[in-house]
Amino acid sequence: MTDPAVAAGSAPKHPYAGAVIALATLHGKAEALAPAFAAIGARLVTAEGVDTDTLGTFSGEIERQLPPLDTAIAKARLGMAATGLPLGLATEGSFGPDPMIGFLPLHREIAVLVDDTRGLVIAESLDSHQVRHGGCPLKVWDALDQTRLDHFGFPDHALIVRSEPFAAGGTIHKGLRERAALDAAIEACRRTSPGGQVWVETDMRAHMNPTRMQRIALLAERLVARAGTGCPQCRAPGFGRTGVQPGLPCADCGAPTAATLSEVASCRACGFHDVRARADGLTEADPAQCDLCNP
Ligand SMILES: [Zn+2]
Ligand SMILES: [Zn+2]
Repeated sequence: MTDPAVAAGSAPKHPYAGAVIALATLHGKAEALAPAFAAIGARLVTAEGVDTDTLGTFSGEIERQLPPLDTAIAKARLGMAATGLPLGLATEGSFGPDPMIGFLPLHREIAVLVDDTRGLVIAESLDSHQVRHGGCPLKVWDALDQTRLDHFGFPDHALIVRSEPFAAGGTIHKGLRERAALDAAIEACRRTSPGGQVWVETDMRAHMNPTRMQRIALLAERLVARAGTGCPQCRAPGFGRTGVQPGLPCADCGAPTAATLSEVASCRACGFHDVRARADGLTEADPAQCDLCNP
């Protein structure tokens, strides 16, 4: 049955329909972020001349000083300041071993929509094991073999080469996507490295890493969906999941485990929160996760 309100064309409008939003990025993220916003009639304006790398780089020449969420908010504010717009969008990625599983690499991308017209920050994040991230040292006699290059996703995914150890005055080459350029960069970095050792790693800037770009596009869809969800209490946009509660019972003995029992959704504007069952419907934990059954 068609909802009469929808049929009459009075379906609730997305709070950011038609909005103009500043985006500060050096790394071509607009391409991945724009479609989700275009779908609600919002437009992204790329802030020219804003150097988001001052807030930290993946390759470590500039260390990130703030936690990822604060870095993303600071980036969004750089774009708002440069364009004079009251709305700003930014994303921030982090990469490393999964804190729960350990050996598996984890990509966490955070996106924020800073809204000074409502005094709100709407944040969404996406965790993924689908990630092209890694690095390895190359001693003076080592060559980069095909297996390693395939693992890095080269040449679709660009590489960075730097002298090792990397200190002030060291050489770094980024965005390498051709074998000849990669080999030349390795040679150049060897010449400035005291022991002839170099470090090769994936270039995690969005436009250099198509796997990351895909995740950013998906995250943009989630951020738009969240921005379109109003708080049940105060109607402010951005209501959604903010955390989880552990204690899912063991399927064998029923004892609470560290696995997620419920999800907490909250409103950043009024503080209202709501505890709900897991979205995936799981009601029992694998006994392998139980401290009693599997000490
Ligand atoms: Zn158990
Ligand atoms: Zn609220």
